[in-house]
Amino acid sequence: MPNPMEVYALLPKTNCKKCGEATCLSFAVKLLSRAKKLEECTPLFEEEKYKERREKLLELLKPIMEAAETGLLIHEDLCFGCNNCVVACPVNVANDPEGVALGYGPKSDKVILRVINGVVRTFNLESCRRFSGDKMLRVCDVCVRVCPSKAIEFA
Ligand code: SF4
Ligand code: SF4
Ligand code: SF4
Repeated sequence: MPNPMEVYALLPKTNCKKCGEATCLSFAVKLLSRAKKLEECTPLFEEEKYKERREKLLELLKPIMEAAETGLLIHEDLCFGCNNCVVACPVNVANDPEGVALGYGPKSDKVILRVINGVVRTFNLESCRRFSGDKMLRVCDVCVRVCPSKAIEFA
């Protein structure tokens, strides 16, 4: 997870208060706690000169923004790429009969969890059981339970 100073470094740093915060630094802190959304910094989206910063911030904050929608948050600094969650996720197993289901790495692009460059990444989060209409499936937390380093959290 990025720290507030990393986020702050990419914000406009004008303290214009359009986001409702007194300073860009307090906005950065609120972004990380999911109390604010990046879109609330309107200059970042309206002014072309901030395009590069905006794109970097969107990439940096992607896990946090996804967590706001799905509740699933990956702490990349804690993940060491052991693949436990990848092979244990029941959706990964069901959606990848030629790969995960046979004990190989993911071969299908329908998996939710996949390790890339030593860190787990999320895809197709809409398939996560947490979104299921079935109450029994919606409580799935297999990925959290099998992670030895507490790198996966449901916010
Ligand atoms: S709107 Fe953006 S530039 Fe203005 S204070 Fe908030 S974070 Fe800073
Ligand atoms: S909550 Fe369940 S379905 Fe969703 S990613 Fe984790 S293990 Fe897979
Ligand atoms: S189980 Fe934990 S440490 Fe292993 S790949 Fe998944 S998130 Fe990373």
